[in-house]
Amino acid sequence: MSFQNVILIDHPVVQTKLTELRDYTTDHRKFRALLDEIGSLMVYEVTRDWPTKTRPVQTPMERTTGRVLARRVTLVPILRAGLGMSEGVLRLLPDARLGHLGVYRDEKTLEPVSYYQKLPPDIATTEVLLIDPMLATGGSATAAAEFLKQSGVTSMKFVCLVAAPAGIEAFHRQHPEVVIYCAAIDRELNEKGYILPGLGDAGDRIFGT
Ligand code: URA
Repeated sequence: MSFQNVILIDHPVVQTKLTELRDYTTDHRKFRALLDEIGSLMVYEVTRDWPTKTRPVQTPMERTTGRVLARRVTLVPILRAGLGMSEGVLRLLPDARLGHLGVYRDEKTLEPVSYYQKLPPDIATTEVLLIDPMLATGGSATAAAEFLKQSGVTSMKFVCLVAAPAGIEAFHRQHPEVVIYCAAIDRELNEKGYILPGLGDAGDRIFGT
């Protein structure tokens, strides 16, 4: 299955960790550690095309010119499962700031309900990574990306772990230009909007609830 503007990170180390995450015997301590590690590993691919600018640097030997990221970075985890993935991303991008968006899925309607928003004031001038491990119906991610655009964000990527085809389609119907990075595109959603085969409720598995 191939989708436009979706980058599937099928690196063997990422896939090994994803398989361990899927395993129902993986407890919350191990789950957190694995998700954190995958977050770090995905950063390489996600940031690959970010612009850089030159910066003079004095080495112990002489003066030269290096390259650094041209723009500041904002990570925006969607609460609550996004938190579990943003730690690992932050480790490789330690100067990044964090915004938070609280969106939950109404269990009856499966529609997103937004309950919390806190973003850096100058987010519009930064590179933004919207983070949520599970792209299921796409409702929360679509609403979150819309909120970021209304806040002036022009450069955004969506980082998830497992995506469902329905979620990719729903998200790209509204935001076709936002590239989705994931480690797996799973088969389908069940009647409750959970991804199959998936890994269950990511928030519950991260936080042990
Ligand atoms: N959210 C999850 O945590 N898991 C799913 O399978 C779908 C949405």
